[in-house]
Amino acid sequence: MLKKVETRSVDAVVIGAGITGMYQTYVLREMGFSVQGYDGSSNVGGTWYWNRYPGCRLDTESYAYGYFGLKGIMPEWTWTERFAGQPTMLRYCNYAADKMDIRKNYQFNTRVTKAHFNEATDMWELGLDDGSEVSCRYLISAVGPLSATRMPNIAGIEDFKGESFHTSRWPRDPSDPNGAQQIDFSNKRVGVIGTGATGVQVIPIVAKSAKELVVFQRSPNWCTPLGNTPITEDEMVKLRSEYEKILAFVSSTPTGFPYERNNKKGSQTTPEERAQLFESLYDMPGYGIWLSGYRDLLTSKTSNNYLAEFIASKIRQRVKDPVTAEKLIPKDHPFGTKRVPMETYYYEVYNQPNVKLVDVRETPITRVTPTGLQVGDQSYDLDVIVYATGFDAVTGSLDLIDIRGRGGEPLKQTWDDGPLTYLGLQVRKFPNFFTLVGPHNGATFCNVGVCGGLQVEWVSRMLGYMRDHKLVYSEPLEEAQDKWTKQVYEDFSKTLLTEADAWWVKVKTHPDGTQTRRAMVHVAGGPEYRKFCEDIASRDYEGFALR
Ligand code: FAD
Ligand code: NAP
Repeated sequence: MLKKVETRSVDAVVIGAGITGMYQTYVLREMGFSVQGYDGSSNVGGTWYWNRYPGCRLDTESYAYGYFGLKGIMPEWTWTERFAGQPTMLRYCNYAADKMDIRKNYQFNTRVTKAHFNEATDMWELGLDDGSEVSCRYLISAVGPLSATRMPNIAGIEDFKGESFHTSRWPRDPSDPNGAQQIDFSNKRVGVIGTGATGVQVIPIVAKSAKELVVFQRSPNWCTPLGNTPITEDEMVKLRSEYEKILAFVSSTPTGFPYERNNKKGSQTTPEERAQLFESLYDMPGYGIWLSGYRDLLTSKTSNNYLAEFIASKIRQRVKDPVTAEKLIPKDHPFGTKRVPMETYYYEVYNQPNVKLVDVRETPITRVTPTGLQVGDQSYDLDVIVYATGFDAVTGSLDLIDIRGRGGEPLKQTWDDGPLTYLGLQVRKFPNFFTLVGPHNGATFCNVGVCGGLQVEWVSRMLGYMRDHKLVYSEPLEEAQDKWTKQVYEDFSKTLLTEADAWWVKVKTHPDGTQTRRAMVHVAGGPEYRKFCEDIASRDYEGFALR
């Protein structure tokens, strides 16, 4: 006889124990909701748990990323580098988890595979990969915008006899649950596929010791210096004392990074003025060059070309072989229309005798063979292949869950032509389902450490409001969803961001070969986004059908 499986029921389920999910779980628990979290990983940390490749680190200033909401953590925590490395970030997440005592609310090594809305009970019914089930009133996704690993579609991947790793599934140290396995490249021929932010971090580290390194580049990126430096104890004392000020500042900037845009238009400046500004920004640590430059950088082709030409000249200065330098200069997208990879001696790597750049734009990688990679009629013998090929971004991890709303409609189908949302937080026909740092919300095109936290606080307040008003059901109205979605697409279309296939664009190829390209992020700026959300809240959550 089949044993009946007991279904647990809780107020809220949070999917994901990354920096966003654990905070959401904590805040709801402290508000008195019963809350259960799940993560497929064996511990907290999300991005910082999975991405253990050598060289992985923040591109946001450490002190401007993280738990501002947890007043207890910042004063005690000590950052030692301006841009913390992954091991530090994972320690930070664990430290925060200890402070919140959050692990007791999570079931790890468990993936949510199914979430169906039951219209008779207004409850979500979830299936887990351990075979058990749970039901909840509120389903909160904190699955991460960059968590669904993307392997390239190249024939023969399984045939390779050497070692191969996707950067976000780097092998762990068996003796240290928080550590990465150290790989000795010194006697190895290594191939790296991909030159996005990840490839640009991993390549210089591998190049230091590899016998041979072959970089397979399909599209070059506009990369600029990270400029990492240690943070001294004295600086940390000062940072701690300015914590309220830092939070206020990053909350006021469009992307949540600690940079303010220059209020001039680049298209109206002189060559001397531009050269001076660009030089000073290039030498500045972090994203100044992207986020403190002229305010028309992402709206004026002229302004953008000025900066792109400046960066191109830097690449030509830093890479000795002119043919290689030209290959490293992007020709297909304006500066800053993809996330700018922050680099540390990246370009100099190509001056090393052990490093070779292979352009796979014209002739793509044909197949993975047992001994390496085949590109057209050229074969490359390799001992290790590193796939720095990125993620099925923003919607990828949601697509892996069978999510069905009212009428049994799959979310994947609802979003087939691009996401439709209200505030990037809720979707019509998917009541009580919230997507933190998801498509079309202002936390995704942002410093997630801060913007994700602020979003958690907003959603928690909404659930508190509903409880206070004896409401248990929330779903966007059609008109509100249509208006929001249209606005997101319109804001995006006014920028040069439309000219690049960055991870925040969903490209769909139709059977007749035509393509649609949809923005997956809200780009009008964090402060505007949060102000809009605050206004909605102050009008009793206008645009949501609450009952
Ligand atoms: P994540 O950290 O991605 O956590 C999501 C969690 O959900 C994961 O642990 C995953 O296992 C779990 N999950 C997903 N699906 C399921 C499921 N079905 N069932 C159970 N569990 C599930 N952003 C910045 O602002 N600044 C940076 O410097 C920066 N650097 C980055 C560096 C790298 C290498 C990467 C990949 C991203 C970086 N980002 C950065 C973006 C980063 O993803 C965010 O900063 C932030 O960590 C996201 O946190 P999160 O909690 O929203 O999601
Ligand atoms: P990505 O930007 O999507 O880059 C993936 C790379 O793989 C691209 O160069 C892509 O080429 C290449 N690629 C994919 N399939 C290929 C194939 N079949 N053949 C050849 N090349 C192929 O992914 P990512 O580098 O992991 O970065 C994603 C995001 O994560 C970043 O934008 C950033 O937001 C975040 N991140 C941040 C940091 C940090 O500095 N803190 C570090 C890493 C990641 P095409 O461009 O031609 O598709």
